[in-house]
Order: sequence, then structure tokens, then C-alpha cells
Amino acid sequence: MSLLSITVTALRNIVARGRCSTCVASQRLLSTDNHATGDDSGPLYDVVISGGGMVGCAMACALGHEALFEGKKILLLEAAPDKGELKLLPTYANRVCALSPASTALLDSFGAWEHIVGMRAQPVKRMQVWESCSDSMITFNKDNMQGTLAHIVENDVTQDAITRQLNKVKDRVEIRYETKVKKYKMPKPMSNMTKLDSPWVKLRLENGDALQTRLLIGADGFRSLVRESCNIHNMSWDYNQRAIVCTLQLPTQTENNVAWQRFTPTGPIAILPLDDEHSSLVWSTTPEDAKHLLALPNDSFVDALNDALWENSQKDSTAVYAGQLLDQLIRSISPAGTSTAGRQLPPHITGVDDNRGAFPLGLCHATNYVKSGVALIGDAAHRIHPLAGQGVNLGFGDVACLKNILTQAVKDGAGLGSILHLSDYERQRQRQIIPVMATVDGLNRLYRNKMSPLVLLRSLGLQTTNALNPLKDLIMSKAIA
Ligand SMILES: Cc1cc2nc3c(=O)[nH]c(=O)nc-3n(C[C@H](O)[C@H](O)[C@H](O)COP(=O)(O)OP(=O)(O)OC[C@H]3O[C@@H](n4cnc5c(N)ncnc54)[C@H](O)[C@@H]3O)c2cc1C
Repeated sequence: MSLLSITVTALRNIVARGRCSTCVASQRLLSTDNHATGDDSGPLYDVVISGGGMVGCAMACALGHEALFEGKKILLLEAAPDKGELKLLPTYANRVCALSPASTALLDSFGAWEHIVGMRAQPVKRMQVWESCSDSMITFNKDNMQGTLAHIVENDVTQDAITRQLNKVKDRVEIRYETKVKKYKMPKPMSNMTKLDSPWVKLRLENGDALQTRLLIGADGFRSLVRESCNIHNMSWDYNQRAIVCTLQLPTQTENNVAWQRFTPTGPIAILPLDDEHSSLVWSTTPEDAKHLLALPNDSFVDALNDALWENSQKDSTAVYAGQLLDQLIRSISPAGTSTAGRQLPPHITGVDDNRGAFPLGLCHATNYVKSGVALIGDAAHRIHPLAGQGVNLGFGDVACLKNILTQAVKDGAGLGSILHLSDYERQRQRQIIPVMATVDGLNRLYRNKMSPLVLLRSLGLQTTNALNPLKDLIMSKAIA
């Protein structure tokens, strides 16, 4: 199974949807908001969002702050308890995300970004990516970019900022914590529906309560019950890797605004700036290695990390030699060429906080993101390797796109669960997400390979890309969109 098959299936779906205009038209009629609701299936909501992680909360907040949703009944269901207001400790949490400018803009649109800035967020001005098997590397910095590449923010801070804004629209968005959905019942397909059948999605909660909704948004993570209940095919695989996360201590330095990533044959190591004396680690490696690293005392862990960042024993001599020749060529063509020029040395890690943790890594992709009355967002629709720091950014992209599409549906007087509008959401998001997933999956596989011809190819490719500023600008503009 490969990402090529995801792409082919997605294209097939898009074509099939385009052909089925009569289904769409009749669905639209059924989805209008004046259908009778009187049965014993519990209260009817306009929108129910199942899952209040960062993405589900952002969705609820975006709809709650949208003027055109005034008067709509919106419900957010979250299995975990309410965490209450975040009390920031002087130490950092081990889970962080690199938030792209597009995510910042979404959070800003409903007022959450200013809370994040008021708590803590570290801007990233430069990025250096290099590998252990050759001297090739690539840098992205302000010369190639306007403004900041990303902000490193603790997940708890992002979640707290969104929740604060959500609490301001409590009259519009009802939130139920410690509420797990046990079962979803999807409406019958259009062709089998009789006049007596309800077109709404029905939910049964673990506490026995029942409710129904015109639109169910599944934001319940990569093990999504919403996706499973819709019988949506999910392509998934395990990378047989764990990501070790923790907070690192650095020697005092003037400015810490560089994100570092070194590819090694067991997986990438990322060091993301938190403040001038701390960075956050995401070290992807084999499960066996992760177990060993987690068990090490702090000093030995720091030694192992510095070795992994600095050691040269895995270098492939052919790739190094070819890289030197390419470097000379680039300099002769363009004396100001940035092949390996501009290389900075990564920081020397001096200590680690007592907050090491590890997470399994895998890929999931739902063949469809929508069904009549249902939309999937965030990890429920797509789960990606963290090496490009894109997971929650893609989820926030779903939120921005779905909010616009639902707002348009309200303007058009169409039902919120109308497949006509929801298909548009799927088309727009899959067009953006599938290429990102394919690239990230490909990079992870490419850099875990130590075969000499592959090392040579990828190192020359990286070095050439690094020398071509317009290409780098293009890569970054796609990465931060
Ligand atoms: C090590 C690591 C580093 C990462 N770094 C980055 C990064 O730098 N940048 C980036 O963009 N992304 C990053 N990611 C990815 C990012 O963390 C995820 O994409 C994001 O957290 C997914 O959010 P979500 O809200 O979609 O899902 P989740 O966080 O999984 O939330 C799902 C929610 O649904 C609730 N739920 C589940 N089932 C039910 C039910 N039946 N009823 C009610 N509630 C339910 C759960 O309690 C949970 O709160 C990283 C991931 C890892 C593992």
C-alpha cells in the first residue's frame, strides 16, 4: 500500500462526486433545515463536534465566533475532564507544536493568538536541516522569507488560549466535558430513505443520553470512532518509530531562534527553540532505541543526544566527495551561492528536564473526509509523521476551510450537512493534504536508508535545492501555507 493509491482513490472520488449532480441536488433538498424533529432521539443540534483536542476546540471556537452562526445550536463533546485555567509553570511541558503563520492567522481570527503571545511562544527565524550520512544541508531563514517561519508553542498553551475564547461564547457553544460518545448512527443512504426516516446523525453517549445533529464534525483523533462508524476506509501504517520528547537546557546564548533537524538512519532529531536557554526535543527513533534512551539517567541521555547530533561515523565517503565537487561547481557559477555556505553548528546540549516521554508514530489517511451530515477534521482525517511539524497545522487548515464552507452554506440557505458543500471541503483539503503527506512519508523513508546510491542522490538533491533560493522560497511558502 502506498500514498500513490491514496492519491488515485482521492482523484476517483472527486470525479465520481462531480458526476453525481442529481444525487447532490436531491440531498440538498433533504438537508434543508425545516425537517420535522419530533422523535425520541434526544435534542437536535445544528452542529455537534466530537472531540475537544486542539483541532475540535478550534472548530467550535471558529463557529462560535462567526456572526452568521448566531442562533445555531452548537455542542462540543470531550471525553477528558475540563482542565480549568492553565497555571503556567516556569518549566516547559514536553509537548509542543511548531505553529505556521496560517495557524497563527486562524487563532488570531477568534482572538486566541493574543493569549498565546501573553503566555509564551518562541518565534523561529531560521531552520537548518542536515543529515548524518553526508555533509549536505539546507537552510531557510529570513533572507528567503518575509517574517517568522513559525512559532513554537506548548500544546497546553494553545489549548488553553482557544478554551478561553470558547468560554466567551458559552451562550452559543455548549461544552460537555467527561462526555464520551459510545455510538453514532448515520442516516440511511438517500436512496433507501422513507418519509419516516430521520436525516440526522444520532449519538448515544456513555452516560446513556441520546442526541441528534444536522452536522457531526469528527475531531476525535487518529483512532476516530466517527470515521469508523461512517465506514470510511482508513489507510494506515505504523512507522515502527517512537518520538522521544522533552525539554533541553542550552548554554546561555544571545538569541535562540533556530529550529534544527538532523536526519539519521533511525529517524530525524528536531530541536525547537523555547527561549534563550531552552529548546524542545522531538527525537524519532526505533522502539528499542527509545526504550533504552528513556531508561538512561539524565547525564547519559544528554551524552547520547550530543553524540547523535555531532557524530560523523555514518558518513558515506562517496556522497561527501560528490558534495564537495558540487559545492565547488556552485561557487564557480555563483560566487555568492549558498551551497554549504551559511552552515551553523548546532547547539551543544548541557542538560535535560525530568519530563521525557515517548509517542508512537504512524500515518493514517481517510479515503473520504465527508459523508452526508458528517465531516472529519484533524487527526481523525489525516495523521502524519511529525518530522515536518505539520500535523496540527493541517488540522487548523481543515478548521479554516470547513468554517468558510459552512458559512457559505448558511448564506446559500443550504443545510449544514449538505453533501454539496461538504464535498467542496473534501476536495479543497485533499488537494492540499495528500501532497504534503506523500512528501513527508517519502522523506522519512528516504532518510532511513543507508544505501550508498540513495545517500548520494539525496545529498546532491538537498545541496542543489539549498543553492536555489527561488526553489527554497517556493518550498517554504507551501510549507507555511
Ligand atoms: C511527538 C509529536 C510532535 C508533534 N509536533 C507537531 C508540530 O510541531 N506541529 C504540528 O503541526 N503538529 C505536530 N504534531 C501533531 C499534532 O500533535 C496532532 O496533529 C494534533 O495534536 C491532533 O489534534 P486533534 O485535535 O486532531 O486530535 P487529538 O489531539 O487526538 O484530540 C482528539 C480528542 O478527541 C477526544 N475523543 C476521542 N474519542 C472521543 C469520544 N468517543 N467521545 C468524546 N471525545 C473523544 C479525545 O479525548 C481528544 O481530546 C506532533 C505529534 C507528535 C506525536
